[in-house]
Order: sequence, then C-alpha cells, then structure tokens
Amino acid sequence: MEFCPNCGKVLSPSKKEGQVVLICRKCGYAKPLETQLQIISKSSGKREKSDVVVVGENSNEKVLPTTSDVICPECGHNEAYWWTVQTRSADEPMTQFFRCVRCNHTWREYA
Ligand SMILES: [Zn+2]
Ligand SMILES: [Zn+2]
Repeated sequence: MEFCPNCGKVLSPSKKEGQVVLICRKCGYAKPLETQLQIISKSSGKREKSDVVVVGENSNEKVLPTTSDVICPECGHNEAYWWTVQTRSADEPMTQFFRCVRCNHTWREYA
C-alpha cells in the first residue's frame, strides 16, 4: 500500500488513459505505476525477437543458374549449376563453384 507524499492519505489505484496510476482522492496527486510498465515493455521485446527467426528453408538450391561450359569430373556430364563465393578479402579473386546436375558432384574453380 502506498501513501500520498503530500497529505498522507492512502493512494488508490485507478485507470487513466489506459495506464494504471495511484491517485490520492483528497488532493489529486497521481503516481504512475512504473514497475508494471517496465515489465510490459520487456516481454513485448522478447516476442519480437522470436518472430524474426523464421527464414525460407530451401532458398539455396532453387535459383542457381546452369552452364554447359563445364564437364563434370565425376561423370563427364556437361551441364552444371554454378555460383561464386567471395573468399576472405575483396582483393582475392572470386571462387566459382559448380554442381553437376546429373550426379550432384560439387567442385570449384578459381577465376
Ligand atoms: Zn494527497
Ligand atoms: Zn556428374
């Protein structure tokens, strides 16, 4: 229980503009319940985080372009998916990867 710092009367909880405040019925002193507000903002922040986690699962394999300029070292097939990866610093050449569309063998070539 809390008391009014002005007149010593017991403060009674009351709702004001959607927030709970403690109000003195004698002099009109009002004190917002700050501790409750903090708890509410904490839990809503948690909820936001867990919502962001979900990302599309099979996004890597679908949109790869194919090339017929290479020959699979495993099975000799001449069509392969390809993509490039920038390794280490930006001065380094891109590394090109290939994956055979027939046997799924993956290899790389330096540009
Ligand atoms: Zn008062
Ligand atoms: Zn192959």
